[in-house]
Formats: sequence, C-alpha cells, structure tokens
Amino acid sequence: MGKQQVITVLLAFLSLTAGAQEHRFSLKEAEELIPREVLKPVKSLIPGNNPSVHDTLETSDPVIKIVLCNDGTWHYMRDVAAMSDSAVFRKAWKENVLNPYDSKLEDLPFRVTLCLADSASRFCCPRQVKVFSPFGWRRRRNHTGVDLPLAHGTPVYAAFDGRVRCSMYYKGYGNIVVIRHASGLETSYAHLSARKVEAGDFVSAGDVIGLGGSTGRSTGPHLHFETRYEGYAFDPQWLMDFETGTLRHGYFVLKRKYLSNTSKYYPESEDEEEEIYKTEEEDRAEAERIAKEMAAAQYHTIKSGDTLLGLAARYHTTVSAICKLNGISPSTTLRIGRKLRVK
Ligand SMILES: [Zn+2]
Repeated sequence: MGKQQVITVLLAFLSLTAGAQEHRFSLKEAEELIPREVLKPVKSLIPGNNPSVHDTLETSDPVIKIVLCNDGTWHYMRDVAAMSDSAVFRKAWKENVLNPYDSKLEDLPFRVTLCLADSASRFCCPRQVKVFSPFGWRRRRNHTGVDLPLAHGTPVYAAFDGRVRCSMYYKGYGNIVVIRHASGLETSYAHLSARKVEAGDFVSAGDVIGLGGSTGRSTGPHLHFETRYEGYAFDPQWLMDFETGTLRHGYFVLKRKYLSNTSKYYPESEDEEEEIYKTEEEDRAEAERIAKEMAAAQYHTIKSGDTLLGLAARYHTTVSAICKLNGISPSTTLRIGRKLRVK
C-alpha cells in the first residue's frame, strides 16, 4: 500500500468511527468505508529475520517515518513513541492495574474498526501453535483468553507495536505483560517465566517481551494470551489463526457482541465478511427471528409405536422437515424416550 492509500484508508477509518453510531450503512457504503483490501489476511513477520536499520527519515506526519534498511529495502513505520501523548495512551493508563477501564458494555459502540496492521505497522504471531484450550466457559470457570502450549524459556513476541502498560506478577496470571496498541486494543501474555520489558516501554511487533513458563495458576508451561477492548475480553481467535500464525484481517471490525465469554470464534463461518458488514438492525432482526423460532419449537418424546411418518401427520409437517431439524435420516431408529424436535 502506498502512502496515499494509507491516508485514504485512515480517512475512511476516521469517518467510519465518527459516524458509526448514528448512520446505518448499506452493504455498498460499508464496503467503501471498510475497503476489502484492509480485510485481507496478514502473515506474521519472522522474528529476528529483519534487516538492520540504516537510517530513519521523517515525513510530514510526525507519527509516520520511513525506515531505510542496510539491504536496500525500505518501509513505512508508525512511530508509537511519537504517539505517547495521544488519547489512547493517556486514557485509563495505570501501570499496576490489570483492568483500569470502567466503561459500561452497553455504552460501547455497536462496532468499532481497529487498524491492527497496515503498510506502516506490522504483526507477529505471539506463539504459532494449535490452540490448546479455547476462550470461553470451561468447567464452570470463565476462560478469558486462549492457552498456547510452549516449552519453558521459549521467546514470546509482542503481537503489534505498542506501549507496555503492565509488567508484573499478578495472582493466577503469574508473570504477566500487558501491551496497549495504537488501535486501543490491549494484548496480555501470562504465566511467563521471565519478563523482558517494563511498564512504559515502547515495543515493536516481534520484540521478545518475555519467556514461556508456568507461573501463577498453571498446570504446565503454556502461554495464556488475551485480547481486550476497554477492559472486555474477546476471543483472540477472532483476530488470529494461531496454527498458521496469520492475522485474519489487517483491519478488524470488533462488534460489541464479541465482548462476552459466550461469543466464541466459529472457524466454520463462511459468512465472516457478511457478518462484518451486517448492520445493528440486521443483527437484531436475526436474533429476534432465532428467538421466535425457538419459542415456536415443539418437541415430542418417542413412545412405543411412533414412526416418523406418524409424527409428520400428527404435527402437520413432513418426514424430511423432522429429519432436518434433528440431523437424522428417515432410516434412523427411533429410540424410546428420545426427544425429537417436530416443529
Ligand atoms: Zn489460560
């Protein structure tokens, strides 16, 4: 992406965040505001593989710099240190409190677009591995992040450029590092055996922020990784595919409904883009439709002599409709006592 495009995208981003609450978009309008280009996946950079820096040049924007490398390549850089006075690094900035925000969930916008990675800021997968334990409720306890297995002492990388807000030992988390990013997103890295950064430090994506371990409430070495917005945790798998180390989108459209321990990323979702562009009205209409359907649902407990054909006639429906509702085939044996949904 050229600089002109970056500016265009930033302007689109600003106009989106400014109008997101009042104005409802048509799909076409939404696509113009969140260009598909920035929704493309972003590969993780390979830590330690970067050419050394020869020089850094200023641009007319104090935050955007041009980095010239010794191998003749160059790239743009968003200088987070030059942003230290901006609101995102001042609001609720407490260096010894895990969650310094006091926002009410219902006061947060229906959706907010977070610029995670573009031509001026990069991404590094904190630890590329299959998720061992996902986000959400498990064994009657709320799991506010994902668990990623790793050997004791393995380097853990900052996911994005940002500023370290916490680096401390905290109860069940053990050694934890919390980084705030320019987008307002916070990422946390817990159970570390060692912390390599201090609160207030500026970090770049791919910097080693600590080493893997098992401190705090942990049954073996693993990285507990969290993503939070305004203090509310959401499933990090909305952002990243940890197995391939890919960021799903350069720009992430975070919906308020994701900020809940019951909102898990569903990998089978083929409608992910459609989901992104859906308006609040469409979202509510779908929830209402599902609620209505659930309220109208009828069940039948199988008794001796029941057949699918008999049930279809009795409930004024068809065998294939019953099969579809219950995920069975017409030849499935009807076990006595089984509850079937018939409507
Ligand atoms: Zn965990």
